[in-house]
Amino acid sequence: MYFEPKYECMNRESLEQLKLERLQAALTRISKNVPFYRKKFEELKIDPYDFESLYDLVNLPLTTKNDLAEHAPYGLFAVPLREVVRLHGTYGLRGKSVVVGYTINDIHRWSKLAARVLMAGGVTKDDVIQVAYNYGLSTSGFGIHYGAEELGATVVPASSGNTNRQISIIQDYNVTTLVCLPSYALYLADRMEEKGININALSLRTGLLGEEAWSEETRIEIQDRLKITAADNYGLSEIMGPGVAGECLERKGMHVNEDHFLPEVIDPKTLKPVEPGQVGELVITTLTKEALPLIRFRTGDLTRLIYDPCPCGRTFVRMQRITGRCDDMLIIQGVNVFPEQISMILSDTEGRTPNYQIVLEREGSLDKATVLMEADVLIPDKIKEQQRFIEGVKQRLAMELGVFFEVRLVELRSMVFEGDKVVPVVDKRTF
Ligand code: ZN
Repeated sequence: MYFEPKYECMNRESLEQLKLERLQAALTRISKNVPFYRKKFEELKIDPYDFESLYDLVNLPLTTKNDLAEHAPYGLFAVPLREVVRLHGTYGLRGKSVVVGYTINDIHRWSKLAARVLMAGGVTKDDVIQVAYNYGLSTSGFGIHYGAEELGATVVPASSGNTNRQISIIQDYNVTTLVCLPSYALYLADRMEEKGININALSLRTGLLGEEAWSEETRIEIQDRLKITAADNYGLSEIMGPGVAGECLERKGMHVNEDHFLPEVIDPKTLKPVEPGQVGELVITTLTKEALPLIRFRTGDLTRLIYDPCPCGRTFVRMQRITGRCDDMLIIQGVNVFPEQISMILSDTEGRTPNYQIVLEREGSLDKATVLMEADVLIPDKIKEQQRFIEGVKQRLAMELGVFFEVRLVELRSMVFEGDKVVPVVDKRTF
């Protein structure tokens, strides 16, 4: 079952031609409208009007999250703001906000690409889809929502949180497809089992899960406990949101919507392309984005590309599930967090940066995040004051990062050290 077979099953030769033509059009548009890229092209002596082959892609400049943050909010937009109908946002480096924009055409394309991903994962127009992703500045909720409507399915915009209500919705609305973080799917299974709910009696049959790293073992567990078929998908706000790539029912890698996104894998140290099929950092060039087109955007995600033909009939290259990050970005409770953001919040509340350590664990199926702060930053014997201080830090972390942290004051020596340095992040989670 394909949403757009004309593209999804296009023969490779026509696809390569389409990609080249779209890239040529994108480069000339970008060079005309985005001074940041125009300058880079000039420096690298690249003539966007004379771009003949996809092999030349490696000569184009890379774009980083930092570039986006530095030019926020609208410096990299290729259209005037009056043509932008939607903005989403994400945290960039040093807590600087990254703003992404969409024209009405971008929104239409986004819906179609998300619909492809839903359908590849086994979702049909007859499904009742509960979207338990956050609806807000993050792209995940809206991306899947629009895709599901485009598919003709029935969407329940449950949004994230309030697990009791999520469970009631699954039961009361006869939900057949669950869309959420894999860890949250497991958490729902825990809670339903605790409540003595007969999962076999529910209507659930598929799950489209993503937004965080998860293993094959986790998939098997989710499928077993929720009695669903679970498919992985990939997307990131900078590029578009969900709809960049998704698993078909073969479930051996996610087909990248190559007619809209050019994937490459580079060595994050040398920045050179890796050998075909090797693991490295995923880099994506958008081919059709109007508001915020990006050239060779470094995602920071580690994966490899699978070029073998897939038995499902789709000709798009597949990317393996994400195996990690090549920068220091952490994904906690499905939210991207840089340790530096935490450091800034701590030094803001404290007046100076205290010694601290971020500890990440799995509690049941959910991420548990704790910030340990060195205790001597406070006057002893003032338990109430300490408590107020801890609550203040917790609230700021939750408000600014969208992640709930436990905060504990401890003695420095109880933290994990490497040599004479406190290890900033201790990640004990296993996926
Ligand atoms: Zn396939």
